Amino acid sequence: AVPVTAQASQPDAGAAYQNAALPVPQRIADLIGRMTLAEKIGQMTQAERQAVDTEPGKITELGLGSLLSGGGSTPTPNTPQAWADMVDRYQSHALKTRLRIPLLYGVDAVHGHNNLAGATVFPHNIGLGATRDPKLVQRIGHITAKETRATGPQWTFAPCVCVVRDERWGRSYESFSEDPRLVTELATAIDGLQGTRKGDLKQPDRVLATAKHFAGDGDTKYGSSTTGTYTLDQGVTVTDWKHFASVDLPPYVAAVKRHNVGSVMPSYSSVQWTDRPGSAPVKMHANGELINGVLKGKIGFDGFVISDWEAITQIPGDYATQVRTSVNAGVDMFMEPFRAGQFIQTLTAEVRAGRVPMARIDDAVRRILKSKFELGLFEKPYTDRTHIDSVGSAEHRAVARDAVAKSQVLLKNENKALPLRESQKVYVAGVNADDLGNQAGGWTITWQGKSGNDHFPGTTILGGIKEHADQVTYSADASAPTDGHDVGVVVIGETKPYAEGVGDVGNGNTLNLSAADKAAVDRVCGAIDTCVVLDVAGRPQIITDELPKADAFVMSWLPGSEGAGVADVLFGRTPFTGTLPVSWPRAEDQEPINAGDRGYDPLFRYGFGLTTR
Ligand code: BGC
Repeated sequence: AVPVTAQASQPDAGAAYQNAALPVPQRIADLIGRMTLAEKIGQMTQAERQAVDTEPGKITELGLGSLLSGGGSTPTPNTPQAWADMVDRYQSHALKTRLRIPLLYGVDAVHGHNNLAGATVFPHNIGLGATRDPKLVQRIGHITAKETRATGPQWTFAPCVCVVRDERWGRSYESFSEDPRLVTELATAIDGLQGTRKGDLKQPDRVLATAKHFAGDGDTKYGSSTTGTYTLDQGVTVTDWKHFASVDLPPYVAAVKRHNVGSVMPSYSSVQWTDRPGSAPVKMHANGELINGVLKGKIGFDGFVISDWEAITQIPGDYATQVRTSVNAGVDMFMEPFRAGQFIQTLTAEVRAGRVPMARIDDAVRRILKSKFELGLFEKPYTDRTHIDSVGSAEHRAVARDAVAKSQVLLKNENKALPLRESQKVYVAGVNADDLGNQAGGWTITWQGKSGNDHFPGTTILGGIKEHADQVTYSADASAPTDGHDVGVVVIGETKPYAEGVGDVGNGNTLNLSAADKAAVDRVCGAIDTCVVLDVAGRPQIITDELPKADAFVMSWLPGSEGAGVADVLFGRTPFTGTLPVSWPRAEDQEPINAGDRGYDPLFRYGFGLTTR
């Protein structure tokens, strides 16, 4: 066995690690030299904030390195000040530890600081993919960072740089595109979040970013075959090296080499090699070949790897095996939301027994501390609220509104249906025209998102239309209009927000339109001469039969809090410039369908989009 105890004396006031004038590697070495095994393993542990909220003394007792607000774990009341107060309260307990190592606080700020009511909520990634605008995506990252850091968290589990290859996946909207080149270009989100200059992470408007989920999460196999049943979410990427290296890995090469991303989260999925006889699926969290070998080795990632929520428990074997396997595979910090104590005990025993090398622990701790030093947390552990009033500001919302306008994809426009004229009498139909929760999608206030207009402020699509036209009639249930209108705007889409899994459960997990939406198109487009259909959804839906009934068809994606941006393009205030970041299938059974496939015959090809510029 290896010696595992260090001398646990109180550090002197002039300790090198507390000296901001010294270079980070020197501060890290000094600090690691003072740490006991328990303190090191504490740094590798992340708990859910709900697990410590009523007993914050646990933060001190266990020496926790990090806390997170898992999707929707919001403070009550859900305000900017409440967030900052909450994070600072937890921080005060971390600072009571012997070495006073500050906490790192992480959230899923994946389309703005989306768990905070009042934050600016941007379109989900698939809509940003349609903008093809790396500068805009960077700017959005910066605003997200500013709203997040001002309210406490210094770290976001974003961006998702997954490459979606099958839109039946419930996380399709978290992907920028089916094309690894476009996903790679939009990894500029990281620059916005972290900044690009040395010292930027110390600024009160930047956060540490996470490229996720490494790797192949959007490229899993679906359906059953002789070798088993494959699920899309948390499934198996069945691939040869060449495909994996050209489709699934490129965004990580850019995230690490070009954008210096601070952390990487492995995927719940597994990889199985078709170019190796007898290869069985290996969970990414157990995949030392890909984490140690490729990510940290070949690509040269020097940040830290954060496990996904309880993901290590999907590794075969008992808990000790799961912990040992994932640490040795290269995972540095463990999102073990409700069993931090058990994790610490287990890893301690594995190290004492010599099954996890001390050098591996030191390497993990070095990587974690590096981020904490770079974020300036030792000097300024508490929230710098300089920018707290910018949360949801008019300036930030204007950027979101512009992003929404740029994300709209015009798929059809006949009979000069668009742009709409302000003098027209407009009949707006369908619940998705007036539902902030639906237009924001999952990962908004709660993990799964919530329908309705009561959860956070913003403008709906209907609200936006009313800014442009005076004569607007709205019918939530899309009943047949009883009097004359110049134009019908039918807003169809997914029936309920969702996150992860298979998608729109309320609508039977399918890309097909709901019966209600089909009927709405029939009724409204049948009654009014000019008919525009908008689709509010996280992925293409099957519109093959409805398309001929509409004069114009617009893909709106999941725009977020600023629905008015949709109306801006409808009325020609800004031109349509968005183009499809994914191929649009004619029928669900065409999935998976991607540009370059043999016999490629989508309804709309990858990159399609009419412009009115
Ligand atoms: C998701 C991650 C997310 C984590 C923390 C998991 O279920 O897969 O993307 O960052 O939860 O909320």
